[in-house]
Amino acid sequence: MIVSVASGKGGTGKTLVATSLALSVGKEVQLLDCDVEEPNDHILLKPIIHSSEGVFIPIPKIDEDKCNHCGKCSEVCAYNAIAVIKEKVLIFPELCHGCGACSYLCPEKAISEEGRRIGVVELGQSEAIDFVQGKLSPGEMMAPPVIREVKRHIHPQKTVIIDVSPGTSCPVVEAIKGSDFCLLVTEPTPFGLNDLTLAVEVIKKLDIPSGVVINRDGSGDSQVGRYCDGEGIPILLRIPLDTEIAILYSRGIPLVKGIPQWRESFLALFQSIKSKVGATADEG
Ligand code: SF4
Ligand code: SF4
Repeated sequence: MIVSVASGKGGTGKTLVATSLALSVGKEVQLLDCDVEEPNDHILLKPIIHSSEGVFIPIPKIDEDKCNHCGKCSEVCAYNAIAVIKEKVLIFPELCHGCGACSYLCPEKAISEEGRRIGVVELGQSEAIDFVQGKLSPGEMMAPPVIREVKRHIHPQKTVIIDVSPGTSCPVVEAIKGSDFCLLVTEPTPFGLNDLTLAVEVIKKLDIPSGVVINRDGSGDSQVGRYCDGEGIPILLRIPLDTEIAILYSRGIPLVKGIPQWRESFLALFQSIKSKVGATADEG
């Protein structure tokens, strides 16, 4: 079963939820940190990293002897990553998505491809948790290929928890797609509701069952609850606004370790997700 943990915006407690859920499941569990621009599950889980792999995308390399400067490559590139100016082909590697269209369509076969490193995937262990995280190199913008490489390590027999980057953009979709369930972490404020609404739209398009965790419960109003009721989205857990919880997080201590009673709540959350995934499978 694959459970992604997402939120419409940063700072809602997504990392707190993903790590405590993984620690509560305890065995045969993987945690994939797909928030590749700012992975921080490692701060709480403190895994021992045992291996790493570079992530590369193919970018074009021009053979000037074969090129006749016809401009076809520049015409087909949807990302303005290649231009032909005054008998010279210019490549802008940061804009290249490695789609291969230019090399495929070059009439002179003047384009080959070379790998450009855009990030790294690290594998490790934190107690019984198989830990995998992706890191996008500084200045790079192409998160989806790094996320795909992280997800290549999914073990089909294990419970997989995916920490998704905040927002609703391409990296979010890349991380969530293929999940059996999506847990949306929000806070009970007008901003929280606005971002939750956007995240729910994405989940609906992906046709993935979802549930909500309200973090810092008691700090705002009841609009998020009313919205969830109206949309038929279950609220599966409420984590109160609590100084002790905030202090634990700021010290890099997972909630279920700092306050072990929370393990039961996270186990109940996991059981709710399991039964909802089972019910969806039965319906299908
Ligand atoms: S399509 Fe090929 S031949 Fe034409 S300008 Fe580009 S690299 Fe040169
Ligand atoms: S590989 Fe794709 S994105 Fe990169 S330059 Fe060629 S056409 Fe553009």
